[in-house]
Amino acid sequence: MSEQQPVSAFETVNQLFARAADLLELDEEKRIELTTPYRELMVRLPLLTEDGKVRVFRGYRVQHDNSRGPMKGGIRYHPDADLDEVRALAALMTFKTAVVNLPYGGAKGGIQCDPRELTRLDLERLTRRFAQRMEGFIGVREDIPGPDMGTNYQIMSWLMDEYSKFHGYSPGVVTGKPLSLGGSKGRISATGRGLFFAVERIAPDIGLDLKGARVAVQGFGNVGYWAARFLADAGCRIVAVSDIEGTLYCPDGLDIEAMRQVAEDKGSVIHLGDSNCQVLDRDDLIGLDCDILIPAALGGAIHKDNAADIKARLIAEGANHPTTPEADVILAERGITVLPDIYANAGGVTVSYFEWVQNLQQVSWEEQRVDDALRKVMLDAYDDLNAAAEEFDTDLRTAAFIVAVRRVAEAARLRGLH
Ligand code: NAD
Repeated sequence: MSEQQPVSAFETVNQLFARAADLLELDEEKRIELTTPYRELMVRLPLLTEDGKVRVFRGYRVQHDNSRGPMKGGIRYHPDADLDEVRALAALMTFKTAVVNLPYGGAKGGIQCDPRELTRLDLERLTRRFAQRMEGFIGVREDIPGPDMGTNYQIMSWLMDEYSKFHGYSPGVVTGKPLSLGGSKGRISATGRGLFFAVERIAPDIGLDLKGARVAVQGFGNVGYWAARFLADAGCRIVAVSDIEGTLYCPDGLDIEAMRQVAEDKGSVIHLGDSNCQVLDRDDLIGLDCDILIPAALGGAIHKDNAADIKARLIAEGANHPTTPEADVILAERGITVLPDIYANAGGVTVSYFEWVQNLQQVSWEEQRVDDALRKVMLDAYDDLNAAAEEFDTDLRTAAFIVAVRRVAEAARLRGLH
């Protein structure tokens, strides 16, 4: 996918912040404070790979704001991970944790690498080296990483293990861990489940019946798969799914479990081999005929050159910043409702928060408790968003930023500038 962003990703987030700050008439001091990251780390990670070569990778951690609590955010392993991207995502985390009212600030990290080109041992060594460079800056009450694109429970386990060598056994220093190391039930499906709760909640408000609603999902990884599965369980018809290799379009509806199997066995959903389905180009998915579009891959997927082609009535943003500001304007003009990323994909960080709470208390919640608590967080946040949208007569993305900026600014004001 082309990452079509006219200005830097961080600038884009700051524009969204500024729109909310204007409506809230936020003072200059708070504007400067909330657009200035707290700390930015860039480290070099030399690695002797299994093929005998020495390669040097770059690792990043940007800690954006801690007014409302310890900073929280994932670590991605991706060839495009750079300081601007990580900085933007760190700021988004500050506003995401605030919009769903978790007692956290925001951070994000990444290593510029292609994990598919590294062996398991390479990945372990790289992760441990990163943890060695970061151990003085992250912590249970300081900054709590979690998984993101290209990272998973195994990488979180190595990170936790390496950190614990320095600080003693510390399961609460990362989230997204396996259950046997203090992970939470329901974490793996949390982002997709949270997105489903958001879609289920807004559907009647925009006159959309989920039974039979046609859904197109861009990206069939953790977020895309679970979102598709919960929507299919609720009676939606998943008509198209794409991944890095292409789009599979099946107007009669796709079998999600069969897709998962083929993606696992053959590397991509396009190899399903069903004569009722068509294989299309990767980017064709965006303009397909459907009611709900779920971008769940990378940033910048919906941009000024394809926003006019969108047929969906509702876009639920599973990915982070999948819609460029120019596209947002086009979508608003066309009356397409957007459930914005900082709300729609907040289920992951919400259950990460539950995981952290369980680690601090050394208890384990049943899955039903996790799901019920997640549903409450998503529904409460929806009410907050709607109230702000009404109060300021604005769209849901701006409303989400208004809710978030108000909370962060209030906490920052009470703590004082020091
Ligand atoms: P993942 O690595 O599990 O899956 C990504 C999927 O996107 C894969 O199927 C990949 O083939 C596909 N993809 C990559 N490039 C593509 C392209 N150009 N076109 C179509 N498909 C493409 O990642 P994930 O964890 O599902 O995360 C997806 C997005 O959601 C990211 O933006 C991530 O930051 C965001 N997100 C994830 C979580 C989480 O809990 N996993 C939480 C919040 C936000």
